[in-house]
Amino acid sequence: MIEIGGERVPMREQKPEKRIRNFLSVPLGYNEDEVIAEARRCIQCLGAPCERDCPINMKIKDFIREIVAARFKEAFFIMKEDNPIPGVTGRVCPQETQCEGVCPFFQRKNGINIGKLEAFVADWAMKNNIKEILHIKDRPRKVAVIGSGPAGISCAVDLRKEGYHVTVFEALHKAGGVLQYGIPAFRLPTEIVDYEVAALAEIGVDVRLNTFVGQNVLFDELQRDYDAIFIGTGAGAPLFLRIDGEELKGVYSANEFLIRVNLMKSYRFLDFDTPIVCGDKVGVIGAGNVAMDAARCAKRLGAKEVYILYRRTKKESPARDEEIEHALEEGIILKELVSPKKIHGDADGWVNGIEMFKMKLSEPDKSGRPRPVKIENSEFVLEMETIVEALGTTPNRLFLSRTPELEVNKWQLIEVDNNMQTSIKGVYAGGDAVRGNATVILALGDGRRAARAIHRNLSKKK
Ligand code: FAD
Ligand code: SF4
Repeated sequence: MIEIGGERVPMREQKPEKRIRNFLSVPLGYNEDEVIAEARRCIQCLGAPCERDCPINMKIKDFIREIVAARFKEAFFIMKEDNPIPGVTGRVCPQETQCEGVCPFFQRKNGINIGKLEAFVADWAMKNNIKEILHIKDRPRKVAVIGSGPAGISCAVDLRKEGYHVTVFEALHKAGGVLQYGIPAFRLPTEIVDYEVAALAEIGVDVRLNTFVGQNVLFDELQRDYDAIFIGTGAGAPLFLRIDGEELKGVYSANEFLIRVNLMKSYRFLDFDTPIVCGDKVGVIGAGNVAMDAARCAKRLGAKEVYILYRRTKKESPARDEEIEHALEEGIILKELVSPKKIHGDADGWVNGIEMFKMKLSEPDKSGRPRPVKIENSEFVLEMETIVEALGTTPNRLFLSRTPELEVNKWQLIEVDNNMQTSIKGVYAGGDAVRGNATVILALGDGRRAARAIHRNLSKKK
């Protein structure tokens, strides 16, 4: 029976004062009664706007119907038809601007909690060791996928399901891309990523770790040995401010900071080899998801005062609503309308402060957000011991320099047509390598679209 509307079932969470001392998941997840109660609020809308606005058009209505009937296994199978990593997307998708944002209850801040329903089902399947049942009929063709982030994963899984022999080449020692090295465990527990990524090998995808294409294996070799190639190399090279003082000790790019913490587990230094130096006063420049993650990691590493230094205001921040709220609850200080001028250091070459301009907002720029403008002679200095720059990233130049025939735009993003095919026939690309800093779900969608195009082309060939 379906109960209409009602209030959203609240999500239990670790209390802020407790969670800032650990890296465990902040949301504690629904239990079976709670997940069914939340699913019952869904009115099974005609035309399901939530599905229409999901970038991979997951069958949301259908899996919610199964949850209402406590058929979690069936719900899981429905999710897996479209999404190889529901435990990830349930936790990190910006649902408020996609599926939940168009749910009729959203206006009352009460949209169906689709993300948390999805995460529950994925976790339930993991606990009960439920695997997708596939009957794969092998085909003789081979596809190479470069990069094991969300784009590479979805392309590899869809092609493998069609019967292709798929090899994924991953530069790092663990598969998963940003899911593994960027997003912290208190938002996306490592065991979820490991479990969902392990499904690739279980369905017969050959995952080759520690293999940088362009260095350990050449792109030409892949062109010679494979019938098609998908490039999902992401955008892993950090951007910098290019201001005085950036070379000082204690200044990190968010990439380095988060890789040390998440992938190399520096918060458990001694158990793991990688150290991290994090002072009592930390300034994080930027206000997207990456900045929130870096700030919240710094807090958990023991910093007493952590600032988000942002040139616009909270309203314009591109971070997910939940991440901003969680960061503020944890005592992160959002300093709006400031922009760095110079980083100050002591005689030993360590950071000891940051000089900032005050800013004001002007008419909207190309992004549609008000343009921040410097207020002249407004400089002031904030004492800081650590600075993390979270300004965005760009694709890895080493790979692109070894594939000069690949057309890129002025931001070094790979050019593709409507089928995700690049300037080289038979070579496709998607995810952040094409879009710049985007989202997990958009990367998944690109991988799927490319897989469909590759399948169409290869099945035409004799
Ligand atoms: P990636 O995930 O970057 O994966 C690319 C992979 O390719 C990497 O593993 C890399 O090692 C590998 N690689 C690169 N070059 C080579 C090569 N030459 N040979 C072999 N392997 C190679 N999105 C959300 O939707 N929600 C969030 O909450 C969110 N939070 C984020 C937090 C952080 C800290 C960061 C950094 C990003 C966040 N994002 C979030 C963005 C999201 O993670 C990315 O958009 C997404 O991971 C892009 O997927 P991708 O597959 O294109 O690339
Ligand atoms: Fe259910 Fe909301 Fe989707 Fe309608 S839009 S089917 S209420 S989840």
